[in-house]
Amino acid sequence: MLFRPTVAGSLPKPGWLAETEKLWPKWRLEGEALDRAKRDAALIWIKEQEDAGIEIVSDGEQFRTHFVHGFLEHVDGIDWDLKTPMGIRNNRYTVEVPTVTGKLSRKRPVHRDEAAFCRAHTRKGLKFTLPGPMTICDTIADAHYGKRADMAMAFAELLNDEAKELEAAGCDTIQFDEPAFNVFMDEVGEWGIAALERAAEGLKCTTAVHICYGYGIEANIKWKETLGSEWRQYEAIFPALNESRIDQVSLECANSRVPISLIGLLSKKDLLIGAIDVASTTVETAQDVANVLKAATEFADPERIYPCTNCGLAPLTRDVASAKLRALGAGADLIRTELGRS
Ligand code: ZN
Repeated sequence: MLFRPTVAGSLPKPGWLAETEKLWPKWRLEGEALDRAKRDAALIWIKEQEDAGIEIVSDGEQFRTHFVHGFLEHVDGIDWDLKTPMGIRNNRYTVEVPTVTGKLSRKRPVHRDEAAFCRAHTRKGLKFTLPGPMTICDTIADAHYGKRADMAMAFAELLNDEAKELEAAGCDTIQFDEPAFNVFMDEVGEWGIAALERAAEGLKCTTAVHICYGYGIEANIKWKETLGSEWRQYEAIFPALNESRIDQVSLECANSRVPISLIGLLSKKDLLIGAIDVASTTVETAQDVANVLKAATEFADPERIYPCTNCGLAPLTRDVASAKLRALGAGADLIRTELGRS
C-alpha cells in the first residue's frame, strides 16, 4: 500500500490515567493500578489508530509522562535531586533539569514489556519511540562527562541496548526523537548523527528519526515566530542525514514555513510527512491532509511518502486527537484516489 499513515508518537492520556492537556502530567494512580491503567490506555489508542486507518501504530507513549524523562528514570548515573537550571533548545525556555553525576548505565529494560504488550494486541506495523541522544543531552545537565558529544555517545550505547530489545519484542519501527537537530545544526554534523547511528547500530527493523519544531506549547510557538518567513533549518542537516544509515525522517510540514522542496535533499530516505498540525485544535479535513501529501509528491516518489503528524498529539484533548487521526487516515485514502494509486 502507498501512503501508509503513521504517527509521530505521543497521544493524549485519558483523564483517568493522568492530568490532561499537559506536557508533564502527573499520574492519577500508582503501583499496580497505574500499570494496568497505562496498558488499558495503550489498548484504547491502538484501537483508535486502527479504526482511523493508521497502518503503523504506536503505544501513544501512554507508559511515560515525558518522552525524555520516561527513559532517564531508568538510568543510573543521574542525580534527580541535583537540579540545574538549563536553557533548553538554545535558551528557548528554562527548566530545572536533573544532572548527570556519574557513569551512565541502564538499570533494566525500560520499555521492552510494554512493546511486547502492544505487539500482542495489533497486527498493524508497530512503532516505538525513544529520545535521541542529542535531545537527551539538551534536557539534562552534565557534571561528569565534560563534553556533550561524549555524554551523547554514552546515552547512545544505552539506547542501542534498549532498541535491540524493542526490536526483539516485535517492533517494526524504532524512532529516535531529535527535535534538537533543528536547533544545533553544526553539532548535528559534528557528532549528532554519529550518536544517532550508534543508537541504531545493528538494528534490522526500520529506523526513523523525528525532527520537528516542537510541541504546540507557547515557548515553541513564540520561537517559530522568530524564524522568519521560510524555515530552512532542515536544509543545513538534510545532506548529512541523507548519507546516514537511518531509514526514515519524520518532518513537520503542515502549516509550517518549511519549503517542501527541501525534502528533495533526502533522496535516499523514506519521508514521514507531517500533515497534521499539533499546535492547532482545528481538525484538518481529508483534503487539507491530501494537499500536504500532494505537495510532497512533487519532490519525492509516493513510494517513499508516509502520511504522519507534525509531532506528538499529547497536549491536545482526546476528542481532537482522535479526530485528527481520522483526518490523517482519510487524507491518505484521498491522495491515493486523487493520484489513482493504491
Ligand atoms: Zn516532535
